[in-house]
Amino acid sequence: MNIAPMPKRFYLTSILANRCPRCREGKIFKTDKAYKKNNVLMHEHCPVCGQPTEIEVGFYYGTGYVSYALSIAFLATTFVAWKVLIGVTFSIDDNRIFYWMVIAFSLLLMMQPLIMRLSRTLWLSWFVSYDPNWKNHPFEKPERIVPEQMNNW
Ligand SMILES: [Zn+2]
Repeated sequence: MNIAPMPKRFYLTSILANRCPRCREGKIFKTDKAYKKNNVLMHEHCPVCGQPTEIEVGFYYGTGYVSYALSIAFLATTFVAWKVLIGVTFSIDDNRIFYWMVIAFSLLLMMQPLIMRLSRTLWLSWFVSYDPNWKNHPFEKPERIVPEQMNNW
């Protein structure tokens, strides 16, 4: 009988820790510090299982949509929270909505490095699935890749 071992990490925790979606162990970024220079530089391959992190030319181009969606989700969530907790009315005499705007957009700007990294991890996880037996399976080789264009996105 062949039972797949329990995953060491769950999907969400491995995503939040920027781990490789295939083995959920290797870190896909070269640095853990989101607020340092080159914070989105990635390993070419997962340091643990060897999964290539760039599986197609311009692969990370699509992360723009992911970070856009994350940003909108953040704004919507904070707006609802603000409306429930503090209250927002759309009138000339009530400027509470402007406090929300200033705070939410400042936070959003400050969170950009985190959102960029999270978008890449999420994006990769939608194309590379978790394989608990990765040691016994070869990873899929990218069909075409332009090495000098890697990490340009
Ligand atoms: Zn891996």
